[in-house]
Amino acid sequence: MATPQVEFGGQLPPKDASAGESFSRWYITAIRRSELADYFEPVGGTMVIRPYGFSLWENMQAGLDQRFKATGHKNAYFPLFVPESFLRREAKHVEGFAPEVAWVTNAGGEELQERLAIRPTSETIFGHFYSKWIQSWRDLPMLINQWANVVRWEKRTVFFLRTTEFLWQEGHTAHRTAEEAQEETMRMLGVYADFAETDLALPVVRGEKTAAERFAGADATYAIEALMPDGKALQSGTSHFLGQNFARAFDITFLDQDGERKLVWTTSWGMSTRILGGMLMAHGDDSGLILPPKVAPIQTVVIPIPARSDEHTSRVSDAVSRVIKELTAAGVRAEADWSDKRPGWKFNEWELKGVPLRVEIGPRDLATDHVTLVRRDTRDKEQVGLTAVAERAHQLLGEVQTSLFERARSFREANTHTVDDYERFKEVMQEQRGFIRAYWCGSAECEARIKEETRATIRVIPEDAEAEGPGVCICDGRPAPVRALFAQAY
Ligand SMILES: [Zn+2]
Repeated sequence: MATPQVEFGGQLPPKDASAGESFSRWYITAIRRSELADYFEPVGGTMVIRPYGFSLWENMQAGLDQRFKATGHKNAYFPLFVPESFLRREAKHVEGFAPEVAWVTNAGGEELQERLAIRPTSETIFGHFYSKWIQSWRDLPMLINQWANVVRWEKRTVFFLRTTEFLWQEGHTAHRTAEEAQEETMRMLGVYADFAETDLALPVVRGEKTAAERFAGADATYAIEALMPDGKALQSGTSHFLGQNFARAFDITFLDQDGERKLVWTTSWGMSTRILGGMLMAHGDDSGLILPPKVAPIQTVVIPIPARSDEHTSRVSDAVSRVIKELTAAGVRAEADWSDKRPGWKFNEWELKGVPLRVEIGPRDLATDHVTLVRRDTRDKEQVGLTAVAERAHQLLGEVQTSLFERARSFREANTHTVDDYERFKEVMQEQRGFIRAYWCGSAECEARIKEETRATIRVIPEDAEAEGPGVCICDGRPAPVRALFAQAY
């Protein structure tokens, strides 16, 4: 995504995903105008999530949190500051994170004896405490999640996708055996995929990262990847099998049933506000955002249409109150727009904000005890009897949710190419992008060369890759076990 530009007033720039700069302008302007977020210019890389954006994030959090709890995890909160010596204990970890760490060197008017990192991630702090809390096999598994902010220094900012400070959750677990830790790693990848597809209507590919793309300090990293409208991939959640690397670095041991002291096996997994950005990019259109009903702060907005006489006006306002009450009772997050703006202005405004369903209530429809329902995604209009609004709204919200997912999935299918020829590979990446499934021999050299020549990286080795059997590497023709999934990435 190109350097963000901000526009005020006037038409929203079209969501033209074929042109990078125009797509980027649409994204930034839609977010700003719909009051989801704003940049904080004095500190480059940072942003504020405004109330409308934050209630969207809260709904996403709720969907994830409920899944974490259903799989046995508990929430806790760990400190923001990580002593430098902690980060240094796991060699690959510090090497991977060093370039993006922000340090506190001075506090309370004094220079600190040891500088403190503002957490870029919390494996080391969890490791420190797990070594105290875990003594016996009876203490395992330890399954803790924290909702927190982290800091990874960024030179460029793009709302939600790339910010220096961002919100996320990080799960950290410790297990008795490698198998249990591996199972947990895959379970949480599954939780992420289910959340992305069910709640955010965002189809994802699951798979394993190559060594080059692995989390610093992990034995294996798995990810879910979504395809954005401009043909670039967005890594939307990661789950890491950490082996015994952090157990060794922080001396996390337990007395096993056989009386022997052993190192635990750990995992970590995280999903951030980044996926919120991905969801916005995937579903919006030229008129603005389209929010999936499951997470939309307002699922249905009710617009009163002004009437000429006082008598009709009071009929309209009675009907609006009644419809709001019934929608709320049916579990629909509904709000009426009583502001004195013209109805046409309100329609545009709520379309920009992505509210999935609109109810228009005016004197003409009310004469026959009807109201008008308008879907945000298709703009289909229908008249519904006053007493049936809640039931029909509920149904339509379900349909919007499903069709957003189907639309995104068809887009992904249409933009996933199976390619066996390197020239063709280059052509696709230059002209239309998207996902490319191509054989890769497994060498870091081929991976680096492809990246260099096409800007495409291996997003994952998809979990179903083996089904197709072996082939030859697209880059150097050597035997290749499976097809990898390539794309240019955010
Ligand atoms: Zn190769």
